[in-house]
Amino acid sequence: METNAKKILIIEDEKAISDIIKFNLVKEGYEVETAYDGPDGLAKAQTCGADLVLLDIMLPGMDGFEVCRKIRETSNVPVLMLTAKEEEVDKVLGLELGADDYITKPFGMRELIARIKANIRRQNIASGVSAEAQSSEIKAFGALEIDLNRYEVRKNGSVLELTLREFELLKYLAEREDKVYSREQLLEEVWGYEYYGDIRTVDVTVRRLREKLEDDPANPQYIMTKRGIGYYFRRA
Ligand code: CA
Repeated sequence: METNAKKILIIEDEKAISDIIKFNLVKEGYEVETAYDGPDGLAKAQTCGADLVLLDIMLPGMDGFEVCRKIRETSNVPVLMLTAKEEEVDKVLGLELGADDYITKPFGMRELIARIKANIRRQNIASGVSAEAQSSEIKAFGALEIDLNRYEVRKNGSVLELTLREFELLKYLAEREDKVYSREQLLEEVWGYEYYGDIRTVDVTVRRLREKLEDDPANPQYIMTKRGIGYYFRRA
């Protein structure tokens, strides 16, 4: 086993599913840790040094939503939720859980592995950038400042609490002011998925970004909708 192998923690109570995921990840060169209930999963997430957590929702002891919330209290490890039903997808999208992504069962192994890679790559880019944050590169758009090195956005001097994904979406659009992007393009460019993403993810992220960014989220001045096409950034 290579020493630089990425470690994936699988928290999934259905042993058959866990086993097949583990088999495929090991074949891909990942190190794998498993947990079969919520409390054990949380404990391992906090101690095993995983590079990514695959988290089922219906779990004995503590459900995946709660496990995710508790992981986020201490860690930025990417969390990929395994959802079984449409209601769960809505809940993942609607709650401020801090989950990075979700994938709906049943899923193919190629899709799962593509999503794992995309999430780990994004995390590596983010931590690499913040580690070299001595010289700051700041883009200013009126009252809004985007600090590219510190991964920080300020409005009228106050720091906005953005998730990594919200930051990356804002940065992408702001660096290409006035250019309209479709949801599919944004999913590919910002999320890094080629075919597998759900475009609702883009809408939900835009909505949250507006809630944090805009004076009146219902009447946005920065992140604009181009009806029937997608979104663009405008200098307020
Ligand atoms: Ca389950």
